Amino acid sequence: MIHIALHFVVPLLVAGTLYRRYWKRATVVQWATMIVDADHLLATPIYDPARCSIGFHPLHTGLAIAVYVLLCVVPLVFMARSEEKEASVAHMVHWVGLGLLIHMALDGLDCVV
Ligand SMILES: [Zn+2]
Repeated sequence: MIHIALHFVVPLLVAGTLYRRYWKRATVVQWATMIVDADHLLATPIYDPARCSIGFHPLHTGLAIAVYVLLCVVPLVFMARSEEKEASVAHMVHWVGLGLLIHMALDGLDCVV
C-alpha cells in the first residue's frame, strides 16, 4: 500500500518542487504514466508481491528505461530555448519521461527491500 501511495506522492512532490508554475499539469502527466503497468497483464500471475518488476515486465526492462531517459532528457534542450508562457509539448514529453523514470525507481525499490 505504501508503494502505491509513493506512486502518487513522489510525482506530486517533484512537480510541486521543480515545475511550480505548471505543478497540476506536471503531476497529472506523471500520474498518467502509471499506465505503463498495463504490461503486468501479460504476466502470470498478473500481480505477485514477491516479484521484481524491473527486468521482468516488457515496459520495465533496461531498453525501455533507456527510452524513458531519452524522453526525459531530450526535451530539456527545447524547454531551455522555449520562451512560451504555457507548458509546451516538450514539457509534456519531458514529464512523461520523468514520470516513467520515477515509476521505475519506485518499482526498483521493491527489488532491493
Ligand atoms: Zn511498474
